[in-house]
Amino acid sequence: MTNLLSRGVMAAALVVLTALPALAQDAKRAITNVAGDVYRFQNNFHFALVVVTDDGVVVVDPINKEAAGWLKDNLSSVTDKPVTHLIYSHSHGDHASGGGVFADGAEVIAHANAPAEIDGVTPTQRFDDQMFMDIGGKSFELTWLGEGHGKDLIAVVVRPENVAFIVDAAAPKRLPFRDMPNSNIDGWIDQVRAVERLDFDIFAPGHGNVGTRADATDARIYLELLKDQVLGGLIAGKSVDDLVATITLEDYSDWAQFDNWREANIRGMARFLKESGQVN
Ligand SMILES: [Zn+2]
Repeated sequence: MTNLLSRGVMAAALVVLTALPALAQDAKRAITNVAGDVYRFQNNFHFALVVVTDDGVVVVDPINKEAAGWLKDNLSSVTDKPVTHLIYSHSHGDHASGGGVFADGAEVIAHANAPAEIDGVTPTQRFDDQMFMDIGGKSFELTWLGEGHGKDLIAVVVRPENVAFIVDAAAPKRLPFRDMPNSNIDGWIDQVRAVERLDFDIFAPGHGNVGTRADATDARIYLELLKDQVLGGLIAGKSVDDLVATITLEDYSDWAQFDNWREANIRGMARFLKESGQVN
C-alpha cells in the first residue's frame, strides 16, 4: 500500500516535471521582417526589435532569458553576424530581463534613469535626452519619452527604414495595459505626444500589430478621451461603477484588448485622477 501510494506520488511528480518543458515549447516565437533589414522578434505577447547592419546585429529588448536564448539560437535564419549592441526600451522586467544572453562583448545602451543593473547587466552607455548612433550603414535615433509609463522609457527610430520601436506608451489600435498601474497617466499622454513628434513611417510596438505614425495620434486621443470622460463623470459625482457602466468607448470596440481592458482602463484612470488630486 505504501509502495503503491509512493508510486502514485512519483507518477504525479513525473507528470508535472514533463509538463513544464512542454509549456515552454508552446511559447509563440518568430522572427518576422518589418521593412528592409528591420525585424521583430515575437515571444508570446511581447515583441523585440532586431536590426541587421553591415557590422552586426542590434537588438532592442531581450524580453527574458529563455526568449533571448531562442533569439540567439535562431538569428541564423536572417544573418550570420553576431549581436554587437543591446538597447533597452526601458527597465520593466517583462521586456528587459535576460540581457546577459547578449551583453558579453556587446555595447549595452539604456536611459540615464535606468537602474545601475538591469537583471544583472550593467549598461556601457547611457544618455539623457537623445542619442544618435551610426552602425553598419544604419542610423539609430534614441529619444527619451519623459516620465509617465516608467521613468526610463525611450523610443528607437531606425533609418533608412524609418521604423520606430515604441514599447508600452502606445500601440496601434490596442488599449493600454489593464489599469495602467504605477503610472503618471498625464506624463504617459505626454510620452505619446513625444512619439508623435518623431519622424518615422512604420510603428513597430512592443505589443500587438505593426502600424503607422498616425496610430500614435489615435492612441493619444484615446487616452485624452478616456481622461475627459472619467474626470467629467467623477466631477459630476458619479461612482466608478457608474462610469464603468456608462463610458462605453464604443468607437474603440474594434481595438485589441477592448473587451478585456476597457473596464480596467476606466478604473485605472479614476484611480490616477483621485491619487493625483485632480478630483476628490
Ligand atoms: Zn513597461
